[in-house]
Amino acid sequence: MNFSNSVVGFIGLGKMGLPMAKNLQSAGQSLIIYDVSQQACTSLAGHKGTEVATSISEVANKADLIFTMLPTGEDVAQVCQAADGLFSHARPGTLIVDCSTAHPQLIRSLSDAAAHISLRMLDAPVSGGVVGAVAGTLTFMVGADQVTTDSLRPVLSAMGKKIVSCGAPGHGQVAKICNNLLLGISMIGTCEALSLGARHGMDPAMLTEIIASSTGNNWCVSTNNPWPGVLPDAPSSHGYAHGGSIQTLAKDMGLAVQTASEQHMPLLLGAVAKQLYEMAMNQGLSDLDFSSVIKLYAESK
Ligand code: NAD
Repeated sequence: MNFSNSVVGFIGLGKMGLPMAKNLQSAGQSLIIYDVSQQACTSLAGHKGTEVATSISEVANKADLIFTMLPTGEDVAQVCQAADGLFSHARPGTLIVDCSTAHPQLIRSLSDAAAHISLRMLDAPVSGGVVGAVAGTLTFMVGADQVTTDSLRPVLSAMGKKIVSCGAPGHGQVAKICNNLLLGISMIGTCEALSLGARHGMDPAMLTEIIASSTGNNWCVSTNNPWPGVLPDAPSSHGYAHGGSIQTLAKDMGLAVQTASEQHMPLLLGAVAKQLYEMAMNQGLSDLDFSSVIKLYAESK
């Protein structure tokens, strides 16, 4: 099915969902949108071809393809399985694509439950952060075979530039969790390296320039540098606002640790990184960009 001419539902218009839906709107896609916070919908409302729903069931009744972009897997389960949710109200054949980051097994169970009532559900988590969501350059890790992924490509292309078929429901989440495990650990390593250099009296900007062209280079050094003022566009240079939050990273590290434990696999660095993000949450940093974890290494005066 080609969804370009369909009504597309979008549920969850937060830091990621809002710019993603905005890109669909700009591409001319007919939309029906919903968020528990009606205020979240205001910047998309009033546009020809975009309807603001007042309930999830209204989205379910009108859309052929529905995206969800919600904080946690529990929220996704609720939106799908509550009495007024998608599973009770969507029309047979509707495809639900969850772009949130959630436990792979949850997605597999929801996908199985959807299949029993003639719906389809798969995961398509994203990487690229808020910057990628705004720019329409996200990477989609689609938990589906190539044919299904290709059927979604025209719609996903309005929001992302790389669209990868990961094979089956849940596998998109596995890819996402592995990426974020490495990202979370890389950020801690970058914070430790820059803090150590600064303690020795070295300029973090000079240190960054050296590491960025050396073997320690990574995205946290060269794009999302945690030291304020080193990269003018990084969240660290803007009070750590507008990025992936500490709370989100702590959730993702928790998913990595949990899924590793379920596989009886040790995850030593992941477990330590998870605790550091949780320490940062306890220090009131939950809503700041995850690079603010560097505050744990601040010199006490
Ligand atoms: P957010 O908290 O900014 O947005 C979530 C939105 O969902 C909010 O507007 C909230 O009101 C809405 N919502 C919550 N429960 C709802 C419900 N029952 N019905 C309808 N709306 C509901 O979160 P975000 O940063 O946009 O992240 C969303 C998902 O994307 C998370 O799973 C996160 O892990 C993942 N993600 C985030 C980033 C990032 O950089 N922020 C990057 C990649 C993936």
